[in-house]
Amino acid sequence: MKAALPENELIRLAHLRALNVLDSEREQSFDDIAYLAMTVCATSMAMVSLIDRDRQWFKSCIGLDATETPRDVAFCAHAILQPTELLVVEDATQDPRFSDNPNVQGDAHIRFYAGAPLVSRQGYAFGTLCVVDTVPRQLSSTQLNQLQALARQVIQLLELREANQALQLSQHKLMTLYSQAPVGIVLNDLDGRFVEFNPEFARLTGYSPAEMRQLSNADITPEEFASADAYQLQQVVASGRYGPYEKQYKSKTGALIPVLLNGVLIKTPAGEAQIWTFVQDISSRKRAEQLKNDFVSAVSHELRTPLTSISGALGLLVSGKLGDIPATMEKMLVIAHKNALRLQELINDLLDMEKLIAGKMEFDMERQPLVPIIEQALEINKAYADNFNVSLHLSVIANEQDMPLMVSLDAHRLQQVMANFLSNAIKFSPPGGRVEVQLIQQQREVKIAVVDHGPGISEEFRARLFQKFTQADSSSSRQRGGTGLGLAISKTFVERMHGRIGFDSVPGQGATFYAIFPLANRATDLPAHSQ
Ligand code: ADP
Repeated sequence: MKAALPENELIRLAHLRALNVLDSEREQSFDDIAYLAMTVCATSMAMVSLIDRDRQWFKSCIGLDATETPRDVAFCAHAILQPTELLVVEDATQDPRFSDNPNVQGDAHIRFYAGAPLVSRQGYAFGTLCVVDTVPRQLSSTQLNQLQALARQVIQLLELREANQALQLSQHKLMTLYSQAPVGIVLNDLDGRFVEFNPEFARLTGYSPAEMRQLSNADITPEEFASADAYQLQQVVASGRYGPYEKQYKSKTGALIPVLLNGVLIKTPAGEAQIWTFVQDISSRKRAEQLKNDFVSAVSHELRTPLTSISGALGLLVSGKLGDIPATMEKMLVIAHKNALRLQELINDLLDMEKLIAGKMEFDMERQPLVPIIEQALEINKAYADNFNVSLHLSVIANEQDMPLMVSLDAHRLQQVMANFLSNAIKFSPPGGRVEVQLIQQQREVKIAVVDHGPGISEEFRARLFQKFTQADSSSSRQRGGTGLGLAISKTFVERMHGRIGFDSVPGQGATFYAIFPLANRATDLPAHSQ
């Protein structure tokens, strides 16, 4: 008699096929279990049988030379209909389900069958672990229990096999990514030794994998990056990640390769901290930047001379020193003069920026009192403030009134920073507004703050404020002039003079831009005379 189909047949089949076991090679571990089942039950045959759509396929078959039989004649097709019970047929000739079975009637001469269903964790009966004999038999309850226990082991093996395959697949994916990635990937211990690295990392540095294993990070890092490297290491240990961090590697041929690093800290199963780093070769970006910088600086130089004479000439005309100008022309000339000055300002900013990037800007660091520099800044920018009907005020908050606030910096560069802070504060102030400059001593530092009561800095603009060519919106730049380079230049100036730059702002209530410098009042406060 043909067995009925289980109710969940379609999904049962899908799960069985997902195991990826049908038609696989023989495996010793399955044969071992079938062999144990056969011995425990003292039968002449045992199988691990899986019920496919039209066949039963044997993952293991002991005592019979077969790999599969049609499903129609399979005892196991009946066994899986009751997944929670063993199917025991003591004498097949006496059982109407099997008496006409060709395996009972024919040469195979099957008489005895006991099958323990192989039921997955989700409840699908894939097949059985069964023992078979050519003579009628009975099994003790201990034998039946043992057969069932062995069937559970088969299920465990099938699940383990599946998990192993999934693991191999994901390992393969990972290895493909690791070996084909166009970025270097490297694992370092905290001493900088290379524990593991992908082919791209070896290619980048020019060392063979064998050579690489003998080296550590310090061997391929130019000396000038030693302290920055130490800082990044501190960073990753404290926070779990570091970067983006730009540095150079020294390749085997001695060439310097600009790279961008990002890394994460991991713990090995043994508890050792290690760092995975992703290494991007940024040589071509750097070359493009260099080309652009050279171009900008060449063009700016070429523009500056004719522009100086144009704005000089226009200035003379507008001042009336060359005689009266007809009223019809005056308005046009004033506009032309203003715009020539604006262009000149842009070109000066661009040249400053290029010099800074190329590292060609000199800083004349000198120990000097701060207050006179700031007083002078107010004086220089007063005319500009008057234009906007804005008043400038200075207040000094020092711990020891009679001690001058000494700083060590380049006064000319600080004037440029102040001009940037003040002109921004002035042009963004409401008419009739106040701009306050505060000098505040904070322990062994002094803060120079420029406070205005303009629109302030919006949330979305905060992060980009110190980047090159950024303005909150183009309409404000048109109304208020400027190049969007001022703050970027100021930041570099302040940092090159050992200071920090920053701002506070409550949108709608104004902004405070500040620079903080170390005080140089005592001899020991003096930073090294640099640049
Ligand atoms: P710019 O030459 O355009 O002034 P900056 O780099 O000095 O260039 O400033 C960039 C932008 O930052 C300005 O265009 C403006 O949008 C914003 N900003 C700077 N200072 C202030 C301020 N005090 N109040 C409001 N916005 C400001």
